[in-house]
Amino acid sequence: MFRSIFPRLMTAILAAILICTLGLSMGFYVTTRNNYIDTRMNELKVQAYDIAYLASRVRSNNMLSGFGYSTATENYISWKANTIYDEFKAYSVVVDRTGQVSLFAAPDLMQEQDIPFDRQRIIDTLAVVLKGKEVVERQNSSNGPTFTVAVPWVDNGVVLGAVFIQTAAQTVYATFQGLALKTALTALFALLLACVSVFLITRQIVKPLRNMAVVAGELAEGHFDRRVPVTGSRETRELASAFNLMAVQLEALEQTRRDFIANVSHELRSPMTSIQGFLQGMLDGTIPAEEQKQYMEIVLDETRRLSKLVGNLLNLSRMENDTIQLALSDFDLHESIRRVIIANLPQLDNKQLDLQLSFNEEPLYVNADPEQIEQVLINLLSNAIKYTPEGGHISIDTAQEGDTIRVTVRDDGPGILPEDAPYIFDRFYKADKSHTVGKGTGLGLAICKRILEKHGQSIRLVPSATGAAFEFTLKSGHAPEPAHREA
Ligand code: ADP
Repeated sequence: MFRSIFPRLMTAILAAILICTLGLSMGFYVTTRNNYIDTRMNELKVQAYDIAYLASRVRSNNMLSGFGYSTATENYISWKANTIYDEFKAYSVVVDRTGQVSLFAAPDLMQEQDIPFDRQRIIDTLAVVLKGKEVVERQNSSNGPTFTVAVPWVDNGVVLGAVFIQTAAQTVYATFQGLALKTALTALFALLLACVSVFLITRQIVKPLRNMAVVAGELAEGHFDRRVPVTGSRETRELASAFNLMAVQLEALEQTRRDFIANVSHELRSPMTSIQGFLQGMLDGTIPAEEQKQYMEIVLDETRRLSKLVGNLLNLSRMENDTIQLALSDFDLHESIRRVIIANLPQLDNKQLDLQLSFNEEPLYVNADPEQIEQVLINLLSNAIKYTPEGGHISIDTAQEGDTIRVTVRDDGPGILPEDAPYIFDRFYKADKSHTVGKGTGLGLAICKRILEKHGQSIRLVPSATGAAFEFTLKSGHAPEPAHREA
């Protein structure tokens, strides 16, 4: 149930809000209640002092004898006791120093034995009050919890006894229950409001995530054009943008994969078709015996093309899967270039191409995998030969800049259009399809790029006024020790 983020977030936030609301409400309730009780007790204290004053007046006028209410002051005390009862539901008594009730002031309780006071508590509290102190205490009497206020009854500086006012704690709390209810209702309302806000906010947070989950599912099913809306908070927008970027890249990757399969099938099919056609022709006699040698050579060429294609594909896949380990060594780059040229002499001669080198006999040592670098040179030179028209010019320059060797292969062929330039190193990319049909597979430059990247170096298309120019870098190497050279 709590696996999903929505209920988790809701529960966590609501729990936090609930605890805070309860804590605050309790704190508010307790503080307000204590303040309320304090205020109530202070009010009772004032009433007690009033009665104490009136009791002194009765005594000093020498009019008090027993329990009579004959004088105006006595009537006033009686009236006051009633008022206190009406307002506070509290009973008031005046006791002398011995604890005997000397003035009984409570409504409807005309007999001393009727007073609801706990007599033992009166005796206990009296000792303190007779010292001139006032007492406010919550007691657990036989009639249940009560609040008692006791103040000294003083006449002419002499403590004659005490005035006790007592009320059941329940009556004080009862007045207070209304507030408790109001607090609870306010807390409940705040909680409900919080619930609604949390629900809406959480849903807003979770909605884009759910959207993403749905779109991710669609992507997984192959609908690579699906995107999520970039809305909501900054973090959600960032996540949605990153998600969409991932989707764009997936789409591009999928497109590359499709192109790759289409390209491979296409590149494999054309030589296979011609091989099949020629062999069939030879078998069924359509091709006369005297022409068979010529067709066998074409078949051989096609099989070479096929094996080159498969070889290139294997190379590329090994390079991309990191299964090729570079065999780094210091070797003479000029020597490698010469070897590659010699291997391509027939093609150069065929098209009567003029090849210029920026170096003669001197060696130039680089640190790299010689076999892989020869592959780069072969690819670049064969492209130059392939795309340069008959009688054209090709040049290979090498230059050293500190620790870096730069090699440039240049030709004065048709060159590469600016709109093709960004894709020229992509697998199977063939610029200017009309010129390149049947000439290559679009893998050569991609292989060059991977090889140089593996060396931590780079290759780029150099802007050139005529033809195409490719430049790649290598790390300079050391000449072998003389002993090695002789060996
Ligand atoms: P390909 O096997 O088709 O030559 P490459 O990866 O070597 O594959 O080259 C990719 C594309 O770049 C080629 O199809 C071609 O259009 C273009 N290209 C490469 N080298 C040259 C060049 N020297 N002159 C003109 N176009 C070139």
